[in-house]
Amino acid sequence: MSRLVVVGGGVAGIAAALRGIDAGCAVTLVEARSRLGGAAGSFRRGDLTVDTGQHVILRCYSTYRRLLARLGVADAVPVQERLGFPVLHPARRPVWLRRSSVPWLPAPAHLLPVVLGHRLLAPAARLRVLGTALALRALDPEDPRLDGCSFGAWLRHRGESDRSIEALWGLLTLAALNAQVDDASLALAVRVFRTGLLDGVDGGDIGVPTRPLGQLHHDAAHRALRRGGANVRLRAKVSGLHRVGDRWRVETPDEVVDADGVVVAVPHAQAARLLHDLPVPACAQWARLGSSPIVNVHVVYDRPVTELPFAAVVGSPVQWVFDRTAVAGARAGRQYLAVSLSAADRYLQARTGELRHVFLPALAALFPRAAGARVEDFFVTREPCATFRQAPGTRRLRPPPATGLPGLALAGAWAGTGWPDTLEGAARSGEAAADHLIQHTLHRSSNPVEAT
Ligand SMILES: Cc1cc2nc3c(=O)[nH]c(=O)nc-3n(C[C@H](O)[C@H](O)[C@H](O)COP(=O)(O)OP(=O)(O)OC[C@H]3O[C@@H](n4cnc5c(N)ncnc54)[C@H](O)[C@@H]3O)c2cc1C
Repeated sequence: MSRLVVVGGGVAGIAAALRGIDAGCAVTLVEARSRLGGAAGSFRRGDLTVDTGQHVILRCYSTYRRLLARLGVADAVPVQERLGFPVLHPARRPVWLRRSSVPWLPAPAHLLPVVLGHRLLAPAARLRVLGTALALRALDPEDPRLDGCSFGAWLRHRGESDRSIEALWGLLTLAALNAQVDDASLALAVRVFRTGLLDGVDGGDIGVPTRPLGQLHHDAAHRALRRGGANVRLRAKVSGLHRVGDRWRVETPDEVVDADGVVVAVPHAQAARLLHDLPVPACAQWARLGSSPIVNVHVVYDRPVTELPFAAVVGSPVQWVFDRTAVAGARAGRQYLAVSLSAADRYLQARTGELRHVFLPALAALFPRAAGARVEDFFVTREPCATFRQAPGTRRLRPPPATGLPGLALAGAWAGTGWPDTLEGAARSGEAAADHLIQHTLHRSSNPVEAT
């Protein structure tokens, strides 16, 4: 039986390990932290179970959703039947953006109500958005030239105004690419808008977890891995990786694990450090992928202040806001809101007190009941390296699963999947890396069994 070691227990590592189990390998997963899930986990704060950051998925996240089903928790991330969300403005009436309910309307006509009903835009701007959407749909995300362009420059060249960018294009780009439009790769924007919104009718329907991420990516993943016979090593940071004959030696401070194949599924900075003595092509270039932060501002009120489960916001420092009351287990009568701030460089270093002065009034301007409510808890979570910086020119820096070294493959949402740095990109990369090893290295010594 071949031995596969997976380094890193985020979604990419979990997906790789399960793939190895399905191929009949003896799998060891080695994770530095005390829990699985990586960037998508949870922690306790008093009565609350707090996610490291609010996550949402889309119906088009097919690999990640299959992974959830494999973990037995598909029901924990229900996807809405029809894309729809409110856009709030502190001084204007909310606008509901919903795709068409007419079942026979083909894509992208299903988005007509979203664009034509967007009252925060002037009628002429809505028509222009339609033309831009059609032009975007005609672009190929695999065209390498697109990655050299910024999405913002392309939108402005099309005549999109600052207002359209703020109230529509930018709102979606922040959520999907953790970047402002001017800092986003056109190729990645095309991937997101085409796959999520323009190519099919239902790809952009939104799924919001109804359970803490730790229950999905740690509890359920740990159970599934153990059930499949994997050896899960937590609090085990891999410090060295060496080729010895035709096998690999994976070192942690406490043990050495030998393997026929290794999937390295850690963030790009850690991967570059781990592999820098090995002849892995372009490994020194990965640092240029950089990082982009996400900050979440968490507020617990002593009473409900809104009925909305989540909303996008324009004309305010709030970008997206989510009701976390039930998922976090907040005490009866309270309401727990999380404000998710993408591309949050300007907030990363700000003190909690400063953010309180910005966000409590901003929330009160959106939800008048918040003005009269008592704030029982206010805290901030900061993820400085939430994603790589999904900027123009990053495509060629993202490596494929194959490293050129037999038995060593790369995974991680930063790797070259063509997808943005998301749960879907992570799941795809993990499966692709394991598949590469199974096909090229592990099949020689393993006795593959059919995936269940
Ligand atoms: C606040 C926030 C909000 C987000 N929102 C969304 C969203 O709404 N939708 C979405 O799709 N995506 C979102 N993302 C992105 C998504 O979480 C990531 O793309 C995905 O989780 C990355 O998974 P990964 O397995 O590639 O990497 P990671 O999750 O970073 O996992 C890597 C693992 O490797 C471990 N590790 C590192 N070095 C070593 C070592 N030497 N030895 C052993 N283990 C090691 C780490 O501890 C970690 O557990 C968000 C991310 C953040 C931070």
